[in-house]
Amino acid sequence: MTSTTTSTMATKPGASPYAVELLPPDISAYKAGNTGIDYVTTFDSGKPGPHVLVNAITHGNELCGAIAVDRLFKMNVRPIRGKLSLAFANVAAFLRFDRTLPHASRFIDEDFNRVWTPATLDGPRQSVELTRARAMRPLIDSVDFLLDIHSMHDPHGPVMICGPLDKGIQFARDIGIPEFIVTDKGHANGTRMRDYGGFGDPASPRNALLVECGQHWERLAEHVAWQTVWRFLRHLDVVDRDLAEAQIEAPVPAQKVVRVTEALIANSIDYKFVDGVQGLSIIPHKGDLIARDAGAPVLAPYDNCVLIMPTLVHVKPGLTAVRIGQIVN
Ligand SMILES: [Zn+2]
Repeated sequence: MTSTTTSTMATKPGASPYAVELLPPDISAYKAGNTGIDYVTTFDSGKPGPHVLVNAITHGNELCGAIAVDRLFKMNVRPIRGKLSLAFANVAAFLRFDRTLPHASRFIDEDFNRVWTPATLDGPRQSVELTRARAMRPLIDSVDFLLDIHSMHDPHGPVMICGPLDKGIQFARDIGIPEFIVTDKGHANGTRMRDYGGFGDPASPRNALLVECGQHWERLAEHVAWQTVWRFLRHLDVVDRDLAEAQIEAPVPAQKVVRVTEALIANSIDYKFVDGVQGLSIIPHKGDLIARDAGAPVLAPYDNCVLIMPTLVHVKPGLTAVRIGQIVN
């Protein structure tokens, strides 16, 4: 294969070549909440059980999670045991969402999902996102099971990001969707909420999942988010089972686990993937061309190399162009 696709688009910063099919819901009614933390509400069943959190808009322009949490509120979903918290995380960024520049509202100062270590949270640095993370930290410290709802920059089949641990893989299997489970060590430039504290400790019963529901503004992402939320709540047995069953669609395909082996970093803005490559493409043979980076070939390092979230537009030198992995089951 020698032909390549154009991966750069001459667009205004924040603009997108993709259709914006979703609208941000009005979440102003949830600001007060009942926890002392803006945009965080906890419903307590009064009965023993886990504290479960469904979290939206860790990234401000990822609308499907906000839509799902808004729907949970409007349905008056309440836990039958334990506690159920519903949260909107990076509201400051979300409130800046502009459908003509929809990439621009991912965050204000920095990525909210790269600050989740005690050292960073306790440290002296200041940003809009750190202020919000510090405000939410008591909540996160009290959560046993987290579902963090995300979506993706480019069109891509949904994936469950379960972290590096076996307990994360098992949790993703327990939820049963999406078809692809991605096990990974996170990102070099900071720690995600799903890897924070006990979530990242193999000895802790606490557990967390990050679902990537599809391209940020495609209608399908809303559907994936909703299905994932209800399977999460059903698995943890914190909501009325009949209510959950009424929302959940079946059957679903058998799941595959992809273990991320490395991130391929772009050296140039002229990073062009091979024609037809997209998220979850499998490059069949070691040595096959994945992309050209300023003309230099980027080759698959092993057979059946799975491409996770290739950056098809807005490739930046020094940043990840794609993560690659192997199917391990
Ligand atoms: Zn995200």
